[in-house]
Amino acid sequence: MTSAMRTSPSVTVRAPAKVNLELRVGPVRPDGFHGLATVYQAVSLYDEVTVRAADEWSVTVEGPRALGVPADDSNLAMRAARALAAVHGIDEPVEIVIDKDIPVAGGMAGGSADAAAALVACDWLWGLSSSREELAEIGAELGSDVPFLVYGGTAIGTGRGEVVAPVLTRGTYHWVFAAADVGLSTPAVYAEFDRLASDREIADPVTSPDLMSALRSGDPAALGARLVNDLQPAAISLRPELGELLTDGLSYGALGGIVSGSGPTVAFLAAGHESAIDLAVALTASGAVTEAHRATGPAHGASLRGVPRVD
Ligand code: ATP
Repeated sequence: MTSAMRTSPSVTVRAPAKVNLELRVGPVRPDGFHGLATVYQAVSLYDEVTVRAADEWSVTVEGPRALGVPADDSNLAMRAARALAAVHGIDEPVEIVIDKDIPVAGGMAGGSADAAAALVACDWLWGLSSSREELAEIGAELGSDVPFLVYGGTAIGTGRGEVVAPVLTRGTYHWVFAAADVGLSTPAVYAEFDRLASDREIADPVTSPDLMSALRSGDPAALGARLVNDLQPAAISLRPELGELLTDGLSYGALGGIVSGSGPTVAFLAAGHESAIDLAVALTASGAVTEAHRATGPAHGASLRGVPRVD
């Protein structure tokens, strides 16, 4: 332990995973990204990121999901901390510890959550008092999902997903996430999307007014019937067992099911707390999945631990 680490206080921020309630994929833009229109919801499955002043920059990844996460300069939390430092001309290295609970390469934006958490944590540590908008702007350079995870809640994402506008919702939604043992690479899923769409024209992406009405009504059955993901056929093409898993979840009482983002995690919407427990038990007891996580949404964006944001 260095002298700086012994004496300096730490800041811990937790950031949520996300599910895309609707994910519409448009044509490839001149910058190589697909245009998107999506409805994000943050859910109560969290990574925790702790930062403290140190003599050198470092990142350590701990917790049940640490395997496969780079503990070097390519880690998104490290890149986020350095980006914030660069914007403010700060030369104060930090030690970053990530407690990882969000499935890696699961389509739940765990890396982006860590980046959002690192931005909020370092902003606090360095006393910068940046607005959420300022942090989201820096986050957008790191990944399309980072701005949403700075804000949390439920929001529409446009552009490549980084232009975020909040959405009015009522109630709490109960989710069961069926995680896969091996992740799917987001670029591979987009490549498969392009291959499957090669014989047709891809329309400009728009989100559906019906989904917005369902969110305003607070009725999980209405929302369950409106879940849609343009990447789902591509994810199923790469992992056919995801199609069977979706069928299984619906037969066990889910109101709706969807591949989360680029997958392979599958998100099931349950009618309430008890139904979510029953669904998680049915999915694991039947052997359909080895891990099913319950979570609720919408959840707060990256927040100091124990201090939910209210803005
Ligand atoms: P998305 O839904 O945003 O497409 P994902 O949930 O499928 O992302 P992530 O868990 O964010 O995928 O990770 C994708 C890759 O990013 C990982 O395989 C890993 O190599 C890299 N990575 C870099 N930093 C992190 C981090 N802090 N946590 C997880 N993965 C990271």
